[in-house]
Amino acid sequence: MKIDLNQFPEAQVIELRELEQPLDLEVSGIKILSAIEIKAEALKLRDNLDVKIDLKTMALMQCSRCLTNTEVILQKDFRLDYIISKHDSFVDLSEDIRQEIILDYPLKPLCKSSCKGLCVKCGKNLNEGDCKCVSV
Ligand SMILES: [Zn+2]
Ligand SMILES: [Zn+2]
Repeated sequence: MKIDLNQFPEAQVIELRELEQPLDLEVSGIKILSAIEIKAEALKLRDNLDVKIDLKTMALMQCSRCLTNTEVILQKDFRLDYIISKHDSFVDLSEDIRQEIILDYPLKPLCKSSCKGLCVKCGKNLNEGDCKCVSV
C-alpha cells in the first residue's frame, strides 16, 4: 500500500481501503490464503504521516500439536508513523504492514486450545480418539 502525499490534504483524516496481495508472508507452517483487506486512516501533518491500520486476512496454519492444517482469521489494528518532508511524494507502507502481520503469527499455532496432539508412540491424532498405547 502506497500513500500519495501530493494528492493528500494536510491536517485532514483520509480513509483508504485496499486489497493487497500477500507477498513474502510465508513462514514455516503458515500460509496466507486470501488478499489482505486493509483499511487505513491517514493523517498528514507538516512533517509526519500518522496512519491507523485495520487489516484482515485468512491464514492456513499447521497446528503445532496435531499437525492438522487449520484456517484462521488474522485480524490486527495498529498505528504507523512516518517522518515526511516536502520532497517525499509518497510513503510505501507495504513492508511495515508485512512486518506487523508476521509479528502477529502465533509461535505455536493450535487448531483449538484443547488439542490433544499426536501420540508420541504411534503418531495417531488423539483428537480423533484414543490409541491403544494410551492405557499401557
Ligand atoms: Zn491440533
Ligand atoms: Zn499411540
